[in-house]
Amino acid sequence: MDTILFWGIALGSTAFIFWPFWQKPQEGKTGAQNGNARLQELMTMRDNILAALKDLEFDFQMGKISQEDYQELTDQYRREAIAVLKRIEAANGANPRLQKIENEIRTLRQQKRSAGGHYCTQCGAPVNKMDRFCSQCGHKLKDE
Ligand SMILES: [Zn+2]
Repeated sequence: MDTILFWGIALGSTAFIFWPFWQKPQEGKTGAQNGNARLQELMTMRDNILAALKDLEFDFQMGKISQEDYQELTDQYRREAIAVLKRIEAANGANPRLQKIENEIRTLRQQKRSAGGHYCTQCGAPVNKMDRFCSQCGHKLKDE
């Protein structure tokens, strides 16, 4: 039981420290995606701190740490949580376009579905398979 608890705490701490690094996006990214990834990272940090606080309380109740340590660590985690929450608010404020971009992506997906995946080769507007000309630019569409 103690061994399992030890490894649980050890693995939890490792995940807590390295999680933001695992979250780093691999692909090329636009500024908006960058902001989104940063926000995601901050929210992960917030969740990790809250999880750490819960672990701390559990450890305290199990008598694994002293009242003094518990108080000190709790205060430290709370300060970190507040700092992260402030950064989340700032990141949200710096990305007012996020919601707009999400809406645009949703619209594009809907258009793609309704158009059956056909696009004008000239302007890229979604077109119906039966259309002979693009409704956006008038480009003659190839018969498929
Ligand atoms: Zn077109």
